[in-house]
Amino acid sequence: MTVSALDNGITGNRIDSQTVLYGVIGDPVRHSKSPIMMNRAFRETGINGAYMAFHITPGKLGQFVAGIRAMGIRGVNVTIPHKLDIMKYMDEIDAGAQAIGAVNTIVNDNGRLTGYNTDGIGYVRSLKEEAEPELAGKRILVIGAGGASRGIVYALAGEQPSGITIANRSVERAEELAQSFRSLADIRAIANDELQAACGEADIVINTTSVGMHPHTDATPIDTSWLKPSAVASDLIYNPLRTKFLLDAEQHGCRVHGGLGMFIYQGAYAFEYWTGQPAPAAAMRETVLQSLV
Ligand code: NAP
Repeated sequence: MTVSALDNGITGNRIDSQTVLYGVIGDPVRHSKSPIMMNRAFRETGINGAYMAFHITPGKLGQFVAGIRAMGIRGVNVTIPHKLDIMKYMDEIDAGAQAIGAVNTIVNDNGRLTGYNTDGIGYVRSLKEEAEPELAGKRILVIGAGGASRGIVYALAGEQPSGITIANRSVERAEELAQSFRSLADIRAIANDELQAACGEADIVINTTSVGMHPHTDATPIDTSWLKPSAVASDLIYNPLRTKFLLDAEQHGCRVHGGLGMFIYQGAYAFEYWTGQPAPAAAMRETVLQSLV
């Protein structure tokens, strides 16, 4: 491959001696859509950056962090399984990431590493822009209490909802999550057998479980006839873009909101932390959507 093919064919970005390096780490990482999304963002804004996917196994995390400083990598996204373990390598952790207990974005300021979590705020920005601009006073039902749910419940709690109910297959996990953020909002935990009643009261119902994700696309976390037709049904899953939960809820009259926006906006916040410039979210979405069809 020629140098010009590398310059223009792979990232499409200018690559020269001034180019600043960014990337995502994960294990596995080859499925990640972040490189195409972020390189489009650099092209769109004219920023001289290049974004790579690094396959980092758990035993290599410390060496990678030394590499961030040595190579002057400006920004890193962190995905499964490193979001918790990376925290001990940070010089500083943002209050939100500390409360959530996970870091998905690193900013490198001349060797000083700060950890952020943009998953929850990315989700809320997407929900407000795409489905429901006003979350204050709303009754929100969150189904699932895993890693993604933690970030989302923390971010939703900052929006003055009238209450948040968390339902989970293992109810003790829902109780633990509710307990963590009870000082921020009116949050309660329920078991999945109380879901029908909770759906009947909810203005926004969010699926944060993996139920309905490819290849199990016939599965749905609830019977959507339980929802108020005026409710918003939201799903974190973006493969498929429209889950059975969302298709059924749409049939029932609900407004629906898929998981792609969360992915775009978690990246948009990271881009903004790194560059100080507004992220070109529409272009980022277009590139990811093109890669999904
Ligand atoms: P996680 O930590 O493994 O949590 C999985 C959650 O799903 C738990 O609450 C688990 O319940 C529940 N669950 C799994 N299988 C279930 C089943 N058969 N019946 C009922 N509940 C079940 O995973 P995560 O990282 O939070 O991710 C959850 C989902 O969010 C995934 O689909 C992921 O793709 C999506 N996600 C999307 C984005 C985005 O950018 N759009 C970002 C992150 C995650 P138990 O506690 O009882 O096991």
